[in-house]
Amino acid sequence: MTLSHLCFNMEKDDEKMNKQLRKTVIAGNWKMNKTPSETTTFVSELKDKVSGADCEVVICVPFVDLQNAIAAAKGTNIKVGAENLHYEKSGAFTGEVSADMLKDLGVEYVVIGHSERRQYFNETNLSVNKKVIAALEAGLKPIVCVGELLEEREQGITEEVVSLQTKIALMGVSSSDMKNIIIAYEPVWAIGTGKTATAEQADEVCGIIRGVISKLYNNDVAESTTIQYGGSMNAKNASELLGKYHVDGGLIGGASLKSEDFSIIVSAAK
Ligand code: PEP
Repeated sequence: MTLSHLCFNMEKDDEKMNKQLRKTVIAGNWKMNKTPSETTTFVSELKDKVSGADCEVVICVPFVDLQNAIAAAKGTNIKVGAENLHYEKSGAFTGEVSADMLKDLGVEYVVIGHSERRQYFNETNLSVNKKVIAALEAGLKPIVCVGELLEEREQGITEEVVSLQTKIALMGVSSSDMKNIIIAYEPVWAIGTGKTATAEQADEVCGIIRGVISKLYNNDVAESTTIQYGGSMNAKNASELLGKYHVDGGLIGGASLKSEDFSIIVSAAK
């Protein structure tokens, strides 16, 4: 029996019902890839492939691609997200982009605390929390990334690391705001490495995160929060990962750059 099942001692039928109630979200994270004109081409290829999707379809793109993505996605079921924001409303922060600027452009989602931003741009649990609050205040939906390093998994502290990241990211977030939050569990050792967590590992840690949310808020909030898995998810492994009880979608890097691969992952989300 996994830890997630110890946390949530539910009957199988209740599990099935709860999973069906949660929103499944398949989100692409393009990182620093594609120009604005490539973005327009990508969305025009993708839109028919995902028009019958059973889940929310999101592409999170570089700032300069947002306008083209929003224009090309108009009238489709594709939602657009940014990959970062600054937590201040405005001011002397050269090169930064605020939550209000994104909202005004028509952006709906924003990735916050991706491990690459934590690793290369000094993002901390506290700055992640400030960004989450800024995003919610502007009416954006944060996709908050948490996940352990390989050394942390090997040291047996995955639960502690991921719990701490989740608790700090959600400081000051009300239970009613939780309906606009997605948590993405992304083990750092699985991002861009081709090394995917097993479906059982993904389910277990997503279950731990759900347990943390239950303690911070209550079981209803925990059971209705969308928790994604991210880390080398692709057209081949998506359906096994997405079939797990606690995995409500995916945050997809490499495999979101080709419309065919991305649309196969979208179809795996039933
Ligand atoms: C990511 O960038 O969030 C990610 C999961 O990347 P990849 O799918 O390439 O591992």
